[in-house]
Amino acid sequence: MPEGQTVDHKQTVEAARKAFEQEFGRFARFRGSNNLDGLTLVEAEAAQRELVDARTRHTGKKSALASVKKLIGRVAAEDRADFGQQVQQLETEIVASLEEAEATLKEFISVARTERERIDVTLPGTRPRRGHLHPITLLRQRIEDIFVSLGYAIEDDREIETDYYNFDALNIPEGHPARASQDTFYTTEGFALRSQTSTVQIHAMERRTAPLRMIAPGRVFRRDTPDATHNPMFFQVEGLCVDRGITMAHLKGTLSEFVHRLFGPEIKTRFRPSYFPFTEPSAEMDYSCFKCGGKGCRTCKGSGWIELGGCGMVHPNVLRAVSIDPEIFSGFAFGFGLDRMAALMYKLDDIRLLFENDVRFLEQFN
Ligand SMILES: [Zn+2]
Repeated sequence: MPEGQTVDHKQTVEAARKAFEQEFGRFARFRGSNNLDGLTLVEAEAAQRELVDARTRHTGKKSALASVKKLIGRVAAEDRADFGQQVQQLETEIVASLEEAEATLKEFISVARTERERIDVTLPGTRPRRGHLHPITLLRQRIEDIFVSLGYAIEDDREIETDYYNFDALNIPEGHPARASQDTFYTTEGFALRSQTSTVQIHAMERRTAPLRMIAPGRVFRRDTPDATHNPMFFQVEGLCVDRGITMAHLKGTLSEFVHRLFGPEIKTRFRPSYFPFTEPSAEMDYSCFKCGGKGCRTCKGSGWIELGGCGMVHPNVLRAVSIDPEIFSGFAFGFGLDRMAALMYKLDDIRLLFENDVRFLEQFN
């Protein structure tokens, strides 16, 4: 066999090597783990798939390597060992390159997949939304704190009442005009939703007798059509103090102290004569506007005063209804609404906002 043929065969080997090196160029960075900066799992998985194809093309039956191997039998006998060695060398190089890249990618993918499945403690979690107390509850708690510090107990009682506790025991006999203004919701069994927290006065005095000091915050119900200042369900705070020698001065002092602690020491109070069946004498109490200091503004409708609620000295008939002797004991009682007070404090034009439970509205009181 002429010399030239062996040279051609050697060139064939070199050509096969070049073809492989050219294509393998894009996998060359995977021949070791030092050049993988910025490589993503998706890219590595794609490279791994392409590498499988590359192996088939460069080591399979139709590969240039396979063609070169077939030439081994055709070269001159004296050159065959040498040529065979060259082909062997090429095959070793190709397989080694492919295997190194395959091993690097396999390791990278394994680590990256584990990383992806690991819980990343640095990621912001899906925090449960933290709620907060309703503005009515916040105000109620402030009021409770004030009266507890004045030595009052907090009474909680039933919302479904009999006529007796809602009216009769409070000196509002059947046919009394005060019943009409407090029309509430009745059941067919003769029960009614309480129209005032004054019912708790009776329960508390029956249970604890005199002397006692208590407040009773709670829901009351009236047959009102909802509008900006009315709701069929609203909150009242009832207060009662019964002891020996209690006078109107104690009532005025207590309620003045209350508004001072709630709104500030500069708040003034005034009492206007009024009428309630269960107190005698009775009064309406106003306090000077916490917004304008009494000059007159939108909050106080220009008057400088805000109405707190009704109060008075407990009617002797109410004390008699719970077997407390009005010759020995006397007391005062008061009641005011929480909703309108909250509406004033939070500058709400409509008390219905307090019951619609729209989170976008309630969130601002956090
Ligand atoms: Zn004002």
